Amino acid sequence: MRRSFEAVVVGAGPAGAAAALGLARSGVDVALLERGAFAGEKNMFGGLLHRMPALEAVFPDFWDRAPLERHVVRKSLCFLTGEAGFTVQFETGAFDRPPYNGYTVLRPVYDAWLAEEARRAGAACLTRCTVDDLILEGDAVRGVRVLRDGGEIRAPVVIAADGVLSLTALKAGLRQPRLDPDGMAVGVKALIDLPRPAIEDRFGLVRDQGASMEFVGCTAGVRGGGFLYTNRDSVSVGLVLHIGSLRDSGRTPYDLLNAFLEHPMMAKLLRGGRLLEYSAHVIPEGGYDAMPRLCGDGILVAGDAAGLCYATGLNLEGINLAVHSGLLAAETVAEARQSGDLSARALGRYREKLEGSFVLQDLKLFRRAPRMLHIDRLYGAYPEVICELMERVYRIDGSPKRRLGRLLAGTTREKVGLRALLADALTAWRSV
Ligand SMILES: Cc1cc2nc3c(=O)[nH]c(=O)nc-3n(C[C@H](O)[C@H](O)[C@H](O)COP(=O)(O)OP(=O)(O)OC[C@H]3O[C@@H](n4cnc5c(N)ncnc54)[C@H](O)[C@@H]3O)c2cc1C
Repeated sequence: MRRSFEAVVVGAGPAGAAAALGLARSGVDVALLERGAFAGEKNMFGGLLHRMPALEAVFPDFWDRAPLERHVVRKSLCFLTGEAGFTVQFETGAFDRPPYNGYTVLRPVYDAWLAEEARRAGAACLTRCTVDDLILEGDAVRGVRVLRDGGEIRAPVVIAADGVLSLTALKAGLRQPRLDPDGMAVGVKALIDLPRPAIEDRFGLVRDQGASMEFVGCTAGVRGGGFLYTNRDSVSVGLVLHIGSLRDSGRTPYDLLNAFLEHPMMAKLLRGGRLLEYSAHVIPEGGYDAMPRLCGDGILVAGDAAGLCYATGLNLEGINLAVHSGLLAAETVAEARQSGDLSARALGRYREKLEGSFVLQDLKLFRRAPRMLHIDRLYGAYPEVICELMERVYRIDGSPKRRLGRLLAGTTREKVGLRALLADALTAWRSV
């Protein structure tokens, strides 16, 4: 194993592989270090890859080249109660032609592909290589210590892309040791094998079309929601649960996931399916105000390690932010190397680049979204109001009808109260 490089990237997830790719393409001698047996081995997510113009600029033939499952043409939001469901759905032909609006992917395959592209561009990819400390000279990072070959790998600059629990950012003193449970969620997912024709019939899809479904009201009152994404011949189905609320509920994620899979609506969609794997992972959902410092002397932080991930209730975005930040971190390092200055001040250009891009602009725009997601009534009372209202609207049983407005006011008053409704509406309006 070589002991010295011009740059080291820790973690071969989307942020790290993009950073290594960017550096290698700029002619920097870079090592990409990954603790798994291969890039992606330990990685999971829900399943929706959003568009990434910066990566498409690197690969103009991205949709032909990347290992994508299906392009998503339909997005649905479903409100669930114990036995009812009300779904709002959007579908457009515009999402059915390139450049597609989003794809489902499987992380072990996708991450391995991106890391391989970095390797082909010239990065040295070292797997089974866990970083467990930094080499410091004063406050400046000068490499990493790894649990392999008793080793040290020296480099004048390190990019920390080791995910949400980033040990590298912690050791560099860029993030707090304690993560706030109210700014973190845990995702649990079941990958279910279903034959391709069953997926296409049940979800109304043809060719490589895919569907994305988000669910509210399926978490027994725990803050969070459900998801289902169609792959080529499997579906990814799971829950995202806020850790503080989950802890207070005394429930376990798998308990809630099993109840979700057994919901009558879900059971119909998944019938005959074979469980291929369960997986779980933490998600940073604290948003803009929970971000750590982004750089120090000889170090930059990208992707989840930098808290660059957010949820609005309708979308969860992380990989696109991770890839974009990885590429900007690489660009910053390449420029700083030219001027021979890898100090925190010179690397501070990274934050300016992020501020100038959708990454920090979107995080700032939705910086209040976590407040909205803390409205507990979203996860029980409101799905009940919606489903009960629809049942009253659609039930025709010979009893006299009531106007829609009165039905809505009556159901809301019973379940939520008008004052709480107004307060929640105001919070939601200010958040998104
Ligand atoms: C349930 C769930 C659903 C999600 N759904 C979506 C979605 O639909 N769309 C979306 O865009 N995002 C989604 N996300 C968020 C997305 O997965 C993350 O934002 C994204 O993976 C961040 O990429 P990253 O490269 O920063 O970190 P990671 O993907 O976490 O990669 C970090 C890498 O570092 C490696 N590593 C860690 N520690 C070390 C170490 N000490 N030494 C060496 N290597 C190390 C890991 O093995 C890993 O390969 C979801 C996340 C979850 C958990």
